[in-house]
Amino acid sequence: MTLAPYAASDAMSRGRQHPEQASPYRSEYQRDRDRIIHCAAFRRLEYKTQVFVNHEGDLFRTRLTHSLEVAQIARSVARALGLNEDLTEAISLAHDLGHTPFGHSGQDALNHCMRAYGGFEHNLQSLRVVEVLEERYAEFPGLNLTFETREGILKHCSLKHAKQLGELGSRFIERKQPGLEAQVANIADEVAYNNHDIDDGLRYGLIEIEQLRAVELFAAQYVQVEQKYPELAPRRCVHETIRRMINHVVVDLIENSASMLAADKPGSMDGVRDAGKPLVAYSEPVSEQVLALKRFLRENLYQHYTVRRMSRKAARIINDLFSVFVEDVRLLPPQYGHKVAASEGNAQRARVIADYIAGMTDRYAIHEHARLFSPTELTRGS
Ligand code: MG
Repeated sequence: MTLAPYAASDAMSRGRQHPEQASPYRSEYQRDRDRIIHCAAFRRLEYKTQVFVNHEGDLFRTRLTHSLEVAQIARSVARALGLNEDLTEAISLAHDLGHTPFGHSGQDALNHCMRAYGGFEHNLQSLRVVEVLEERYAEFPGLNLTFETREGILKHCSLKHAKQLGELGSRFIERKQPGLEAQVANIADEVAYNNHDIDDGLRYGLIEIEQLRAVELFAAQYVQVEQKYPELAPRRCVHETIRRMINHVVVDLIENSASMLAADKPGSMDGVRDAGKPLVAYSEPVSEQVLALKRFLRENLYQHYTVRRMSRKAARIINDLFSVFVEDVRLLPPQYGHKVAASEGNAQRARVIADYIAGMTDRYAIHEHARLFSPTELTRGS
């Protein structure tokens, strides 16, 4: 398929940190995607969660299924806009690699623990995973991904950290945009979680259909489904509604972005970076609808008392783990012990501990906490 002039292409890529020969059969961004799928951090996404803890039910989204949904949505949009699907997919699959266990509460807790040592940002950690922490190649640390994939992974970044990131951080300082593939992956992330959180929230009984009738984006589709299929079982009704909601926002996103691109006419990926505004966006009315849905989820789902209880427990686990390792680094497993031994100063030592904790899955963190703190686990060792 022909790429639009503003799409990313192998020929225009800024390349890899460690130069490598081109593959005879795969494009550069296909290789990035493949490297991400084969890395350990990607497999861990299966046991990490965003809102619900993994063991609460087998049907809830994990970060792995979330990332697959993001990739699916992002690829559809990318193809419709003539963008590079492989790059879009690579960014989508890698976007959550740096997340801690227990979703946002885990990230906030670890950031708090690390406040004296430079803090913890999950976007930066995703970059750290693919640049430093993965150990899969003889010749370089990390996965040696292309600039464009790493640019897409670094969705947000504080100015303080941006200054330390060279070419990759400069767009945050110069207020430039990332490529369109990164912009698509970013919005696809939001489309995926807004919709799957409704599904998971309803299944778990934290939110009710009656409440959602006040949310325009949901209600408009739900009423249509009810009218067309009055006998439909409730769960199928929900799934049919969510399917239509995703379609509604994705079609709007494609059509609105296509007209923005037609108006702005960026001649290249650099033209996109210099456009002064994102060129992938919903129309104004749908943007308002999405905001209202996010507000609803924030007030009714993410702040639900059962979610808050779980978040509090998660934060306690992260705090306990961090404190106990800072007090005595000899409690770390050997591979991290060696890294501590090779590190200089408290900040580097704390970073090794943060890497260890951030890499944990939800259940690993729960077990590790029990091994270190539960008296009944005394006989289990580590
Ligand atoms: Mg995500």
